[in-house]
Amino acid sequence: MYKITKSGWLEVITGPMYCGKSEELIRRLRRVKIAKQKVKVFKPVLDNRYSKKDVVSHSGNSIEAVPVDHPEEILKRIDASVDVVGIDEAQFFHEDLIEICEDLADRGKRVILAGLDRDFRNQPFGPMPELMARAEYVDKLHAICIQCGEPASRTQRLIDGEPAAADDPVILVGAAEVYEARCRSCHAIKE
Ligand code: ADP
Ligand code: ZN
Repeated sequence: MYKITKSGWLEVITGPMYCGKSEELIRRLRRVKIAKQKVKVFKPVLDNRYSKKDVVSHSGNSIEAVPVDHPEEILKRIDASVDVVGIDEAQFFHEDLIEICEDLADRGKRVILAGLDRDFRNQPFGPMPELMARAEYVDKLHAICIQCGEPASRTQRLIDGEPAAADDPVILVGAAEVYEARCRSCHAIKE
């Protein structure tokens, strides 16, 4: 692969939950640090899966990140000395993230984004489709389907053990809600 040297670029790591997006983002960012390049990592405030301040993978790896509400805050925190910008859970950010990432890449930064390509309804998620279209590099990872062991490309939402309906509320008080990785055949949405 020819290496881009005359500009920045966008890199997207995507797929369903548990496919290893955060793990892969952390791996790439660690290597950036080993190369002594300056890196800044961001995540949306609403994702406090394990930690308010770190990007944490399901397997326990982590890297320090700045939680931000709006993508504008990312721009404000990046100066000329930053070489690489990492963004996790990019699907939760406002669409303004797209232009901000383009701007950072135009200014010579390597921008690495990780995020879900689709939600549990199987619909494209937030700014991700456009980021994937604009990126120089896209990696679509697969998890393992919890039902059948095939590669999983979808995220299943279960409420009290049953597939959720497309219009079920996002927040359900008192219900046991889980998400799991599933393949096309095993993924279900309640009618
Ligand atoms: P993502 O950011 O895509 O949700 P993570 O990087 O946080 O994924 O976690 C990936 C890790 O999750 C895997 O290395 C594995 O240890 C674990 N894992 C748990 N369930 C699954 C699954 N169904 N398929 C693949 N990996 C899984
Ligand atoms: Zn399956």
